[in-house]
Amino acid sequence: MRTRISVLCAILLVQTPARESIAPAQPVFAYPCDDYALGLRRGTKFGTLIQSKGTPFSGTWHLADDLALAAGTPVRAIAAGVVRYSDFSPTWTDAKGFVHWNLGNVIVIEHELKPELESLAAVCSFYVHMAADRRVEVGELVERGQLIGRIGADRSEENGRYPAHLHLGIHRGAYVQITPAFERSLVRAAASKQGLRLGDVVLRGELELRRSGDSDVLISSKSGPEKALLSLLVGSTAPKDPPADIMNWCEGYGPKETLADWLEPSKFLARHAARAAK
Ligand SMILES: [Zn+2]
Repeated sequence: MRTRISVLCAILLVQTPARESIAPAQPVFAYPCDDYALGLRRGTKFGTLIQSKGTPFSGTWHLADDLALAAGTPVRAIAAGVVRYSDFSPTWTDAKGFVHWNLGNVIVIEHELKPELESLAAVCSFYVHMAADRRVEVGELVERGQLIGRIGADRSEENGRYPAHLHLGIHRGAYVQITPAFERSLVRAAASKQGLRLGDVVLRGELELRRSGDSDVLISSKSGPEKALLSLLVGSTAPKDPPADIMNWCEGYGPKETLADWLEPSKFLARHAARAAK
């Protein structure tokens, strides 16, 4: 009897870890639209340098994949997560004269990754140039594949006056974070001859950046009393002409160094999405 039990134990000991390692990992992501591969072939790819003249984005880099699909195409959440932004982003000029460009209707979803995926604890998906009938609100929990809205009408006010397409970005990390590219740009400005000018304040030398509240960053000079508060909220300005007080999180284009803050959506989805793109 004792022999039989010990044999059984030995079998269990051998089998248990093997069974766990066979279990397939659940796919975490899904494609946002039917005909994804077709839309991708027709659209502007991640990392493209924009060279067309007459646009405020000339000379900057595309931080997303554009899916050129018909207006009205359903758009679905690429993973489970929480909605962080769901709003219309019109063109307007702020008090300092900076133009904020119309992105149409925009949705941002934050996806926590447990366990981490490619060393990332979270990513945020950006859906830009959507139709006005967005199906989700800020704070709402969504499932992978849940309908969140539709691609906006061609060259309409609701989509920001662009040809009909979905601008799909996947940002590394959690929502409202101090991104490395953002921090470097401030540090570089503070080290320059002119210093970092934020409103009436000029900061010079070494900086300290600290999150302050839900969406602000307190920036202080290590060598003096100067301090300034910057917002991390979604923005939509031309990257070469940004207002000083927002991080331009949701800009569709950025300086080359900003590319590292984003993932290449088509490649990331090819590695982790539930089904092959059509
Ligand atoms: Zn785009």
